[in-house]
Amino acid sequence: MTDYFITGANARWQVLWISTKGGKKRIIEQDFEHDLMGAISLYAKAKAAGKPFATLRCANVGFPPPDRLMPYIERKRVKGRIVETQVTPMVTLNMRGVMWCPYCMQLRKPMYQSGFRVEGIRVPEEGVHCPLCGVSHRNGHVRRWNPALATPTKRARRSTSNKNVRRTRKSR
Ligand SMILES: [Zn+2]
Repeated sequence: MTDYFITGANARWQVLWISTKGGKKRIIEQDFEHDLMGAISLYAKAKAAGKPFATLRCANVGFPPPDRLMPYIERKRVKGRIVETQVTPMVTLNMRGVMWCPYCMQLRKPMYQSGFRVEGIRVPEEGVHCPLCGVSHRNGHVRRWNPALATPTKRARRSTSNKNVRRTRKSR
């Protein structure tokens, strides 16, 4: 928890979780602005109540992954010489379909969407998003910590063979 305090007074906090009341999935989001203590208190309650995906989120500061997922230098002895290679654990996770959301400060399964909404208008632009807070691969912090995230552009480049597959609904 100590990491949260280094962001200073400008960080804005939110608590999110998924509600399944009435059989409908809804994302609950509550803003706490600069009241970190208030946010932590609700987050602890949501966790204790077993709310799915209970998350303490920073709205305006992107956080790096925990130390165990940060790049490191591995030294190996090869034919009597020391060889150094950089290991980036997030690359492996990205390849397995996992992303680090720097705002939720959680590992997430990325969600692919064909577009998004801004003020009621649908923008038909493909993107990879955090399933909870919706931040996309276009965000600089998301890109920085997810170097191998399969974005629509990367996927299109990789698979050119099946780009024209289309489903047609036949009427009876
Ligand atoms: Zn997120």
